Amino acid sequence: MATRIKIDAVTGERYLAVRRKGLGLIEDPLANKGTAFTAEERDLLGLRGLLPPAQFGIKEQLARTYEHFRTKTTPLGKHVYLNSLHDRNEVLFYRLLQEHIEEMMPIIYTPTVGEACQQFSHIYRRPRGLFVSYDLKDRIPELLANARLRAPRVIVVTDGERILGLGDQGAGGMGISIGKLCLYTLCGGIPPYDTLPIMLDVGTDNQALLDDPLYLGLRRARVRGPKYQAFVDRFVDAVRTAFPHTLLQWEDFLKGNAITQLQRFRDRLCTFNDDIQGTAAVALAGIFSALRVTKQPLTEQRLVFAGAGAAAQGIGDLFVLALQHAGLTRDEARRHVWTVDSKGLVVADRPNLDDFKRAFARDATEAAAYPRRDGATISLHEVIAHVQPTILLGTSGTAGMFSETIVRAMAAQQTRPIIFPLSNPTSKAECTAADAIRWSDGHALVATGSPFEPVLHGGKRYRIGQGNNAYIFPGVGLGVTTAKIRRVTDGMFLAAARALASVVTPRDLNEGALFPALPRIREASLAVAVAVVRRAVEESHAAPKVLHRLESTLQQAMWTPAYLPLRYEA
Ligand code: NAD
Repeated sequence: MATRIKIDAVTGERYLAVRRKGLGLIEDPLANKGTAFTAEERDLLGLRGLLPPAQFGIKEQLARTYEHFRTKTTPLGKHVYLNSLHDRNEVLFYRLLQEHIEEMMPIIYTPTVGEACQQFSHIYRRPRGLFVSYDLKDRIPELLANARLRAPRVIVVTDGERILGLGDQGAGGMGISIGKLCLYTLCGGIPPYDTLPIMLDVGTDNQALLDDPLYLGLRRARVRGPKYQAFVDRFVDAVRTAFPHTLLQWEDFLKGNAITQLQRFRDRLCTFNDDIQGTAAVALAGIFSALRVTKQPLTEQRLVFAGAGAAAQGIGDLFVLALQHAGLTRDEARRHVWTVDSKGLVVADRPNLDDFKRAFARDATEAAAYPRRDGATISLHEVIAHVQPTILLGTSGTAGMFSETIVRAMAAQQTRPIIFPLSNPTSKAECTAADAIRWSDGHALVATGSPFEPVLHGGKRYRIGQGNNAYIFPGVGLGVTTAKIRRVTDGMFLAAARALASVVTPRDLNEGALFPALPRIREASLAVAVAVVRRAVEESHAAPKVLHRLESTLQQAMWTPAYLPLRYEA
């Protein structure tokens, strides 16, 4: 069985139990310390002669690796370098990330991880995670056993069909499962020993991949329909049998599949979908922070979405739940939301309306209030003029949607309009942070989906808060797995959103930022975890005894990247 942290029964000392010596030990990234192995460890663990004589501490190792990192000139080159460090020495990898989090998070996750998924078959060096491919559908329990993990706390699984905004990346989707679990460890302190990235390889419909002679995935068209669902069902059954207490997170599935799997399994196992629920919580946290500035109640907000897809649906649902908690009925709450898609305002009598768009479709009678020619669409600008929204969220994946006219219209109606261009990557944002600030003369409360540099306007420097899901899911994972919560509910995500907003300081708000700075992300994760556990107890999804010394229990459960003494236990 794998390398594990243990506690000495007599002294109470934490140590790493290892089952290998010599080269085998150096090749285990969870145990390897490189030049930091002590003289005693070198003697006891058969390492003499296998390492250069000099012994260094982690400080010098960090200086050496950072120097190396800086020699790489492209984001992908930096990603590959960090991946190889990850494969050599996990403690050093996470320490380096922790010390340079603002510089390196965009390299190990969005946006660079997207390019890494696209180039997966070309930058591949060594395996990580588990490939569950359709041709092995009858052997899934055997594959899970091969992972050689006693019980992973968190699994992130993708089928690679909708990787970020980049579509079908086939087996390359493994990069996203790996990257996401890095953030669970970096931001939420989930020990790297306890995570398992999984790629469900059902083929790909990306012709460029199928034509690539070096493509590493299953070379066939995607399995779809009942066969696809039967395969996912088998996978879930095998996970439940092998690891009954594991948190299973769905990642970057196509919209229809994402919604189907969540609905199918959310009441049967401990599971959630970050693209839907995590996104919703982080966006709502941004709204809660903004309301601390405007000092308006939630119940007086009018929310317009530009883009009526999966992200809008997730955020809209959680916004409605928050309004219900504030005393409104579900129908009353829904009337606070308007959605605009590529065909204009979504109204209930539109022919062939998708089911999920129906939830926020406006009454046909409302459409009659707009002066328009018959059959013409009701534009975003018209909706803003008519509804006078307090909040405008961009979830359209369409650059330029928040034009100067749109932003100025918002600013003319509200003293402090809340404007979030959430679409990723940066090139798809509805407007830049600088545009939103400039066109509203510094009055807009802005949060973005992609990272933006601070904006200088009217002599003031605005720090732009990024609505990064990494503020939410690692804390959810920490709370759920530490307190052994049995189900993950929307109520927990609402609690997570409130907790994240509460970590934002008056100074953050004064600087224009609606989220805490990244170096404080572990603090945010802890607050999220505490809130999630409390909510789980209220909802009877965890035993009340977990509330005893909750914060310190969670704090102690957070893994920090530091070398532990090693002990050989055959
Ligand atoms: P989606 O494909 O499900 O939905 C996109 C929606 O935008 C559709 O309703 C489409 O009709 C609409 N649309 C497209 N062009 C339009 C136009 N010109 N005018 C009006 N509407 C238009 O995609 P999704 O999963 O909802 O994601 C949308 C965007 O949100 C993506 O760019 C994604 O990166 C971003 N997102 C951000 C975060 C975050 O910041 N934390 C999280 C999730 C998604």
